Amino acid sequence: MTTAVTERPSAKKHRKPTGLFMPELVFFEPEALKYPKGERIMEWVKAQNIPYRMTTSHNRITNLPGETELEQYKIAKRTLVVGIRKTLTFDQSKPSADYAIPIATGCMGHCHYCYLQTTLGAKPYIRVYVNTGDVIDAAKKYIEERAPEITSFEAACTSDPLGLEHITGSLAELITFIADEPLGRLRFVTKYQHVEPLLHLKHNGHTRIRFSVNADYVIRNFEPATARFEERIEAAGQIARAGYPLGFIIAPIIWHEGWQEGYAELLAKLAQALPPEAGKGLTFEMIQHRFTKTAKTVIEKRYPKSKLEMDIEKRKKKWGRWGQHKYVYPDEQQTALREFITERIFEHFPEAGIDYFT
Ligand code: SF4
Repeated sequence: MTTAVTERPSAKKHRKPTGLFMPELVFFEPEALKYPKGERIMEWVKAQNIPYRMTTSHNRITNLPGETELEQYKIAKRTLVVGIRKTLTFDQSKPSADYAIPIATGCMGHCHYCYLQTTLGAKPYIRVYVNTGDVIDAAKKYIEERAPEITSFEAACTSDPLGLEHITGSLAELITFIADEPLGRLRFVTKYQHVEPLLHLKHNGHTRIRFSVNADYVIRNFEPATARFEERIEAAGQIARAGYPLGFIIAPIIWHEGWQEGYAELLAKLAQALPPEAGKGLTFEMIQHRFTKTAKTVIEKRYPKSKLEMDIEKRKKKWGRWGQHKYVYPDEQQTALREFITERIFEHFPEAGIDYFT
């Protein structure tokens, strides 16, 4: 790893740490309270003096406070729903893993570009599931069916589960389960930094933890309510020292004025901040920014002042897996982004692997 990077002003280092997520309102399905995790969450909610209500189903939360749609959206992002996961058939999760493993749906982050804006539709509140035992049993079956192949599970397809770990403990359960599965692997990605509960777990190297990182411009403009870059990197160092396989997802890669400097600085800062042991077996995933017409409409409504460029005229149309066209960068821009960032990765991390660019 090389260390050529400009020193940032020291004032930044003394900013208040990003706090743990505290919901403002919690809903419980009555059945959820029959599970130890449901009971535990209820005790926590009471201890924190958070108002709570009962609901018949975690899929039907209709009486959220808020006068306008936008207010309701913001409140929903701070509303937690504790329920039971009924669908135990896992979705595919290519190219990141074989299957998505469901432990939570929804996120408290406010990333303008997030695909949950559209995939969660009118249900942007955060759902956590108390029957992790059933989810683990289902995962076991998938592993058995695919033996002797390795089966990998992505735990962050519909949420940022690390941001909820202090409430659920679900990642810890998955990590310790997969540690004893010779043919199972777990991975998740996060924009949060609260890794302490995971540092002393038995993981056997079967869980890869990835941090989502980006050029400073992207983080500053499009990722409110997530941990700062420095906090994510510090957490990545802790994860590396705890012996977990580590990775970075650079996503969404955004073409902006000064993108070359921005992404060069990102890789240089990563190399400077990470402990030497982090370089071994490090992986990178790269995802260019994309959007659908539906996403564009939703984002413009929810983040009306966003600088996110979504000009269909400047993009290439591509058929998406979800039955809608998506808009990616034209081929020349894609190639320029991919080649430039790949070169910077290998300049600083010659032993790293690049899983994909999409
Ligand atoms: S942290 Fe991830 S899941 Fe949460 S809003 Fe941002 S992009 Fe979406």
